[in-house]
Amino acid sequence: MTDELTRLDRAHHLHPFTDFKALGEEGSRIIVHAEGVYIHDSEGRRLLDAMAGLWCVNLGYGREELITAATEQLRELPYYNNFFKSTHAPAVKLAAKLSEIAPAHMNHVFFTGSGSEANDTMLRMARRYWALKGKPEKQWIIARENAYHGSTVAGMSLGGMAPMHEQGGPLVPGITHVRQPYWFGEGRFGEGPLNDAADPSAQAFGRDCAAAIEARILELGEDKVAAFIAEPVQGAGGAIIPPESYWPAVKAVLAKYDILLVVDEVICGFGRLGAWFGSMHYDLAPDLMPIAKGLSSGYLPIGGVLVGDRVADTLIEEGGEFFHGFTYSGHPVCAAVALKNLEILQDERVIERVREDLGPYLASRWATLAEHPIVGEARSLGLIGALELVADKAGRARFDKSLAAGNLCRDICIERGLVMRSVGDTMIISPPLVITHAQIDAMVDLARDALDETA
Ligand code: PLP
Repeated sequence: MTDELTRLDRAHHLHPFTDFKALGEEGSRIIVHAEGVYIHDSEGRRLLDAMAGLWCVNLGYGREELITAATEQLRELPYYNNFFKSTHAPAVKLAAKLSEIAPAHMNHVFFTGSGSEANDTMLRMARRYWALKGKPEKQWIIARENAYHGSTVAGMSLGGMAPMHEQGGPLVPGITHVRQPYWFGEGRFGEGPLNDAADPSAQAFGRDCAAAIEARILELGEDKVAAFIAEPVQGAGGAIIPPESYWPAVKAVLAKYDILLVVDEVICGFGRLGAWFGSMHYDLAPDLMPIAKGLSSGYLPIGGVLVGDRVADTLIEEGGEFFHGFTYSGHPVCAAVALKNLEILQDERVIERVREDLGPYLASRWATLAEHPIVGEARSLGLIGALELVADKAGRARFDKSLAAGNLCRDICIERGLVMRSVGDTMIISPPLVITHAQIDAMVDLARDALDETA
């Protein structure tokens, strides 16, 4: 059976973010089963999934309550849309629940099928908002280099990933990118310890990155900029945790020029940083918040945009019909699973446990990897973390690119039973929020062994 699947996969299946030809030569790992924080492949290997699938299986695999919510809803009403004036209970209840857990000023949601669609939606909403306010020239969106906001044309244009921009253009016009607050990669080495919140040079770097936004606003003209979009902690770019100075300075710049704040919570939302949303961790008051992934713990595809009162009131009162929507906006089965997922996160105090227990525990264990000879930095916040691989610890010199040290380490991890992700030579974790202390210990031990072998 496995051989037949491999043959069919090679013959017919184009995988996302994959070199199709190389896949044809190497073949895929076939995942057959999962429970808790573990996945199992067709060769009988059990792997600790330190990526929660793709940053999404927040409650872990195999939750019966989510399966029941899906099957009951499939029986009751497997599909109906929310277009025009129809709706159904799962979409309405989920919208109300999201308004309850979101920051107080966010009381509306527009559902989508994914995070990419959420970012397309927010782009149209932000520009529409300013048009309705009589400022149609406020169109520019400022995003960040190396950000990831999805793979639709708007999503990848908002994202700052050069290899994506180079394929299948042109990009959506009116989007510009500024530097990312990546202290390890782009900070001014030598001025102080790495990623130390109290270190004045890291804090100055955070403020410099915010100043780059102000400079771009002035370049474009302050009356031409609609919004700034960023992830609270950059996920796919490399689990980039900004210096503490960054977000307060960004907030001040946006307030000064009356520019909407869009916080992409597709990864950080639903507990990853130990708060319902990354915006709450950093005390942000976003105007628009794209969400997806952890909304349903990845069990079914669903996303959305949470809309702050300022934008929602304008769209509702002055907007007329919004010509936008997806067949699966607020899909009843996906919404029923998402609602149950949020109830479990709440009832089991999962997010509080990340904040009070699991996040600090991971931080203490993860930090021990910083002592490894090929680790230049080990950082984490809540349950997201990264290791920076270096050839020379003191000078922070990277390995020669041709060695692809990150990919090598990732492959060794898999051989040893651990799924980590590599972004260049940055190794990432984003485990399910239900991971235990013992499983964190096992993850760190496996990572250390893989580092030894990579070195
Ligand atoms: N935004 C962020 C921050 C993401 O990490 C992702 C996916 O990884 C997306 C948007 C796109 O979400 P999706 O893959 O559901 O379209």
